[in-house]
Amino acid sequence: MEDRNNNNNEIYALIIGAGISGIVLARLLAEKNQKVLIIEKRNNIGGNCYDYIDKNGINIHKYGPHIFRTDNGKIWQFLSRFTAWHEYKHKVRAIIEGKEIPIPVNFTSIDTLFDTTKAKVFKEKLISKYGKNEKVPILELKKTDDKDLRELAAFIYEKVFYHYTLKQWDLKPEELAGDALARVPVYTSYYDGYFTEKYQAIPQNGYTKMFENILNHPNIKVQLNTDFKDLKNTKYKYLFYSGPIDEYFNYRLGALPYRSLNFEFKTLPQKQFQSVAVVNYTSKEPFTRITEFKHFFNQKIGQTTVAYEYPAAFELNKNERYYPIPKQENEQLYKKYLQLAEKEKNIYFIGRLGEYKYYSMQSAIAAIFELVKKIAT
Ligand code: UDP
Repeated sequence: MEDRNNNNNEIYALIIGAGISGIVLARLLAEKNQKVLIIEKRNNIGGNCYDYIDKNGINIHKYGPHIFRTDNGKIWQFLSRFTAWHEYKHKVRAIIEGKEIPIPVNFTSIDTLFDTTKAKVFKEKLISKYGKNEKVPILELKKTDDKDLRELAAFIYEKVFYHYTLKQWDLKPEELAGDALARVPVYTSYYDGYFTEKYQAIPQNGYTKMFENILNHPNIKVQLNTDFKDLKNTKYKYLFYSGPIDEYFNYRLGALPYRSLNFEFKTLPQKQFQSVAVVNYTSKEPFTRITEFKHFFNQKIGQTTVAYEYPAAFELNKNERYYPIPKQENEQLYKKYLQLAEKEKNIYFIGRLGEYKYYSMQSAIAAIFELVKKIAT
């Protein structure tokens, strides 16, 4: 009988965690003729990109909406080897003062929220100050010296960003370090997509299927329901750890804080619940957004499934980690953990939890591409 932990052939890489970072890394190493073992604590691959088809045939993103986008042709071509794509331009709306507006705020949002004269002034001034078809982060717009634009900035800040950010992060917009807020700028145009990247799509058969295809290689072995601690006898040359870096070091320097989410899923006997896949609730409601999944594939069926998204503090053993919190003191604590990591031989920390970084899917993949260039195989 095969003892799965007794590998006579030493493997090259042991990868902890089968999320997007671990999966892409496994494939790149396997294609360099290296033997890879990837283990996953959960009963499924995909990390928080995991999706499945529900009983009505609707593709559900269990951990919240994921839309793939990139300008990077290499990343796009890489993934395209493992999936066909459903082209999908993501649209998000918010309900402000009872009116549905596009998010990011664009010229349609301004036309909807203000009377014609005022809207005209705002649009003209935005163009003359920032140019046409530009993206202006709200905190930059707030700094403007123009009186009208200041009024517009204060309105958008209060109605779109302030409460949502407080709910999502338990922080005020100014307290967020990095470019989290700049992900959702103000558009100086009528463009109403959520993203502006060249490639925007969802895997035709879902993310989980695409990941299965990526892992389908003779040099890759996958073990689900397996904790790192279960693998005492496995010999490897390199360890790639996509779990939480603070957990790896037994929280020696203190715990890195995270935000978590609770989802309330509802399947309703109606064709449509809302006009687009995601509607943000930017006021004092306890949830931040509602996702209606059938919009992703434009499915025409009699039922629909929606998910209400409730942000929450992360609590160990109670809920899941979703977002590293972009705050300077957290980044400093992470750097201290990194110093510990650098003292260990042949171990790399990867992904949102390993690098304590608010990665999008494309930026997580880009980081793995860079890492593989650095490691001698
Ligand atoms: N945000 C906001 N209001 C919105 C949309 C976004 O205040 O209507 C802020 C909020 O702080 C959020 C950040 O912008 O966490 C990034 O938004 P994004 O939609 O990229 O978040 P994700 O999909 O990663 O949760």
